[in-house]
Amino acid sequence: MRTKFDTVIIGGGPAGSSAAILLARAGWSVALIEKQDFPRRKVCGECIAASNLPLLEALGIGALFAQAAGPALQQVALMHGAHKVVAALPAAPHEHYPWGRALGRETLDTLLITQARLAGVHVMQPWSATHVKGTAGNWRCDVRATDAGTVLTLRAAVLIDAHGSWQALPDARAGRSRDHRASDLLAFKANFRQARLPEGLLPVLAFRGGYGGMVRADGGVTTLACCIRRDQLEASRRTAPGLSAGEVIEALLQEQCDGVRAVLQGARREGAWLAAGPLDPGIHLSRGDAMFRIGNAAGEAHPILGEGMSMALQSAWLLCVQLLARAPGQGLSDPAWQRELARVYAAQWRVAFAARLRFAAVLAHLAMRPRLFKPVLALLQRWPTLLTRAAVWGGKTRCTADPAAIAIQNTFCDHAMRQQGT
Ligand SMILES: Cc1cc2nc3c(=O)[nH]c(=O)nc-3n(C[C@H](O)[C@H](O)[C@H](O)COP(=O)(O)OP(=O)(O)OC[C@H]3O[C@@H](n4cnc5c(N)ncnc54)[C@H](O)[C@@H]3O)c2cc1C
Repeated sequence: MRTKFDTVIIGGGPAGSSAAILLARAGWSVALIEKQDFPRRKVCGECIAASNLPLLEALGIGALFAQAAGPALQQVALMHGAHKVVAALPAAPHEHYPWGRALGRETLDTLLITQARLAGVHVMQPWSATHVKGTAGNWRCDVRATDAGTVLTLRAAVLIDAHGSWQALPDARAGRSRDHRASDLLAFKANFRQARLPEGLLPVLAFRGGYGGMVRADGGVTTLACCIRRDQLEASRRTAPGLSAGEVIEALLQEQCDGVRAVLQGARREGAWLAAGPLDPGIHLSRGDAMFRIGNAAGEAHPILGEGMSMALQSAWLLCVQLLARAPGQGLSDPAWQRELARVYAAQWRVAFAARLRFAAVLAHLAMRPRLFKPVLALLQRWPTLLTRAAVWGGKTRCTADPAAIAIQNTFCDHAMRQQGT
């Protein structure tokens, strides 16, 4: 089996798969390691902001996304207790893609990883990265086949960490393990059929100790996803012995939020509640090593804005534009070049996403604290269009990546490869 590549990418979520597609199309040899079999459900609100749809098109899954995804999201609502404020969502400045839509992660992630295979990526799935050694220009990554237990060591000049943020990479586990905290945010998601959620409406939920959202995704399924503080969940579980954490969350949301109760009236849950976390909001671009990080591995925003997949796709793009400034064979293993590139990428990442992270953190902390949230609710009731503005400030209509930038690089590389007869 092949073990030497230009790059090894750990994690086949939206960040890892899109980086793999972009680099492979430009002629890089790419190994993409994904530990889970797809399709798989995943904790996520599943809304993809309109600003990303040109990127999905450039990745070659635009038409499939358009066929499969749920209705265009044109309105946002804030639901808190008995209160509901509704406003328009801002349209993105794109002729074909003004509105975001939702697509189950079992479908989106499968579309992307399939596209990676078609682009010539060596997809290892279900394989897990178990150990990473080396440094910029000379990486060794131990991988293990989840089913057969086979172990291999892959070598690569460039290592990209796209493994998300809810589990540490094995090597980092010892350093990152810590006691549970009352303030840990745990994430949950369930899908429902026959829910009464109006098409095109994206409700954001604020409740004591947590926040969440609902959306109509593909196939008429409604996704309900939320985050809740560990202490709040434990307190609620003590009052309902025998119920699973997901069932407790469902009851809590219905009790605390009239809007959720109305939407779920007569609805049937499809599949189990999924749980993940604790979340790790903040910027993690550098963990003292020389890996490139994209997606949640680079930085996690509180998902109250539902911008995590935007950051995953767009950070992959930002990094790949930098990496593709060098054609394959032009000394990818040069550590000085990688260090400089890491500096430029980190600066671009911060300009693109740091404000979004801070804004999401402020909103999340307000939403979880009813006493602080009261005046915010009063403001929104008076001026609902502040919700529209919040979506703009949160990045919903802004794409920091330029799909054409990669197209130019690909054209250059295709041409270079033809000239070299490769
Ligand atoms: C409650 C909630 C609601 C959300 N709602 C939205 C929303 O509506 N819209 C939005 O845009 N974002 C939303 N997000 C955020 C979004 O889910 C994440 O930001 C996004 O999944 C990040 O993509 P990623 O590719 O970086 O990581 P992931 O999607 O987490 O992918 C990482 C992949 O790496 C694999 N992996 C992990 N470790 C290894 C290993 N050692 N070896 C091999 N593979 C490995 C995992 O199996 C996984 O498939 C939400 C998040 C939460 C918690």
